Amino acid sequence: MNPKSKLNLILHKVQQYWSGNAVNQNKGMVENLQRYGIIQSRKVAEVMETIDRGLFVPNGTPPYVDSPIPIGYNATISAPHMHATCLQLLEENLQPGMHALDVGSGTGYLTACFAMMVGPQGRAVGVEHIPELVSSSTENIQKSAAASLLKDGSLSVHSGDGRQGWPEFAPYDAIHVGAAAKEIPQPLIDQLKPGGRMVIPVGVLFQDLQVVDKNSDGSISIRTETSVRYVPLTSKEAQLQG
Ligand code: SAH
Repeated sequence: MNPKSKLNLILHKVQQYWSGNAVNQNKGMVENLQRYGIIQSRKVAEVMETIDRGLFVPNGTPPYVDSPIPIGYNATISAPHMHATCLQLLEENLQPGMHALDVGSGTGYLTACFAMMVGPQGRAVGVEHIPELVSSSTENIQKSAAASLLKDGSLSVHSGDGRQGWPEFAPYDAIHVGAAAKEIPQPLIDQLKPGGRMVIPVGVLFQDLQVVDKNSDGSISIRTETSVRYVPLTSKEAQLQG
């Protein structure tokens, strides 16, 4: 074998090792979340195994550790246990063909998970007010298992104020809000389908993760799941000032 093809063979083996390792580490993260009872269903485990978190965090940061990571613009990618908690809470409303809205989609990680769950007949819509994050999240998704859904249009990420929701694809079976609101924005309640569920952190200093169910008569039931800490759902200007 000539030296060039020998080098190529070694490079190929190194690449295989690293990509295999990333898959194993993502799987290890999912196994830990299962062990601690945060992931309770096969479906949520499967989607978190399929969408590699490593593709969504900034280069050089540890993707599989259970902690939030700064992504610039005073935003963070949520910790894996928060992603898992929200997927579990929304699982029944993320069935094939359903519509899901991800407000404050950041890195695009959860939007990609939603898209995998609702499938090509469904709709997964991300809304993010930092245009640079809309671009980088699109690039992240393109590298992930959800790339074909982005291409066929059942997954889309839009630049805008998520407090207004995204009326184009409403009503939604599932709405996730990835930033803490002072109060639940009315347009999000309006865009929830009867039988639909919204998961939203509410509060300023002390925040509760609230589960908002719209009943079949259009009335709303709200319960608190747990205490959380998210970046605020606010204006772009206020967020960039920090
Ligand atoms: N689920 C995302 C969370 C990102 S942090 C992830 O794990 O990657 C919250 C995001 O909400 C930030 O990207 C922030 O820019 C965005 N955000 C805050 N207020 C917003 C608003 N009014 N409209 C749209 N996006 C908003």
